[in-house]
Amino acid sequence: MSAVTECETMTDSNPRTSVSADSAFVPGDAVVAKLAVAAMCDLHHPVKRRTAEWAAKNLVDPTLPDRDTACRFWPEGWRMAAEHGIQGLMVDPVYGGAGLDVISALLSFEGLGYGCSDAGLAFALSTQVWTMQPLLEQLGTEEQKQRYLPGLADGSLKGAFTITEANSGSDTFSMTTTFTEDNGEYVINGTKAYVTMAPEADVFIVFATKDPKLGQWGVTAFVVDASAPGLTVGPNRPKMGLRTTPFADVSFENVRVGAGDVLGAVGSGAAIFSNAMVAERAFVLAFQIGAMERQLDDAVRFSRQRTQFNQSIGDFQAVAHRLADMKLRHDNSRLQLYRSAMLFVLGRPSMEAAALAKIQASEAAVASSMDAVLTHGAQGYVTEFGVEQDLRNTAGGVVYGGTSDIQRNIVARLLSEGRG
Ligand SMILES: Cc1cc2nc3c(=O)[nH]c(=O)nc-3n(C[C@H](O)[C@H](O)[C@H](O)COP(=O)(O)OP(=O)(O)OC[C@H]3O[C@@H](n4cnc5c(N)ncnc54)[C@H](O)[C@@H]3O)c2cc1C
Repeated sequence: MSAVTECETMTDSNPRTSVSADSAFVPGDAVVAKLAVAAMCDLHHPVKRRTAEWAAKNLVDPTLPDRDTACRFWPEGWRMAAEHGIQGLMVDPVYGGAGLDVISALLSFEGLGYGCSDAGLAFALSTQVWTMQPLLEQLGTEEQKQRYLPGLADGSLKGAFTITEANSGSDTFSMTTTFTEDNGEYVINGTKAYVTMAPEADVFIVFATKDPKLGQWGVTAFVVDASAPGLTVGPNRPKMGLRTTPFADVSFENVRVGAGDVLGAVGSGAAIFSNAMVAERAFVLAFQIGAMERQLDDAVRFSRQRTQFNQSIGDFQAVAHRLADMKLRHDNSRLQLYRSAMLFVLGRPSMEAAALAKIQASEAAVASSMDAVLTHGAQGYVTEFGVEQDLRNTAGGVVYGGTSDIQRNIVARLLSEGRG
């Protein structure tokens, strides 16, 4: 999708709350706003700390280096996360979740990122919880929700979100995956690319167009079971980082779905996608902000222990300033994340805040990962010490959920319209 198209399509409306942009705070939202302020000010918020402690105890996998090399997922980690309630954090208790608010869920994901050694697992959980599940919960029919949400929440099912194609990335609505109507049913044809969790997924949210010439106006979202005849998942595609997150293309060859498998209304796919992207693009990085904090703590510890020229390297100003820069980047990322979340829960326009938070957190994570490598010297570069993986894992953040260029386009466009 071109940046211009994205801005024009995005309504910056907020499906999670009925509060309009100009209305006063309602009491429930005010409570969540207070929680957001607490989250911003308290680096050791109890919700975050508890999840970090739990993850550090349970989600540190000694086989990670081997799995990372082999690009292998960790089903046991997924199961333990579900048992702890990660997948069900925001799911309505009617469907087996905890029904928590967005801020509490973000704090939990920060803690998860801090404690879990497997960034690929944390990313996989993140995309399901922040991108796939909210769509199903907000827009799904009762039948769709009953069929999938309890399993997604308890970890027995996994979900994936598919919009990108080989020739349709940022230019999302140039997609060529089509659907045709046939006797009240729909037949999907085409191939989606780079789908997180595709090799493991039991259910897909799939965007297809009635006619590529219609652009954003032709798009409809479907909920498609992985067992649907004609749906095939390609091989796991090795990638630079997040290697333990399975990732593949998904092909649809005359995949037939019923009218009950449409998500939202026929033709509303572009609005669904745009609204989903407004805040989720920032929230998906909460785990990575937690990982940045762990990375900083490790770098501080190392800089105190490592001596050269008969002194701790942390006493060299060059190293100390690097640590201060890492702290600054982490703090800025957190603040932008919770500001964007607070605007979101209050129903205030949050498109710009989310885009800024996405740019800040994703680019800060890459810069700090490079600083961590430099601070650790050769130990930062050699795989067995576990430092270099952060640099590989964070690089994807400037691409997925819309590249940094696209986020800057959004911010610039809003500024030029006087909406920034
Ligand atoms: C780890 C990872 C996980 C992913 N998971 C999923 C998933 O689960 N489901 C899914 O559907 N997709 C997924 N994707 C795909 C992702 O959404 C796309 O990679 C992303 O939208 C960019 O599209 P592209 O790769 O085709 O790059 P392109 O759009 O081809 O961009 C290439 C370059 O051109 C720049 N560019 C393009 N258009 C503009 C413009 N208008 N203005 C300025 N610069 C521009 C980009 O910023 C980039 O630098 C994932 C990608 C990654 C890396």
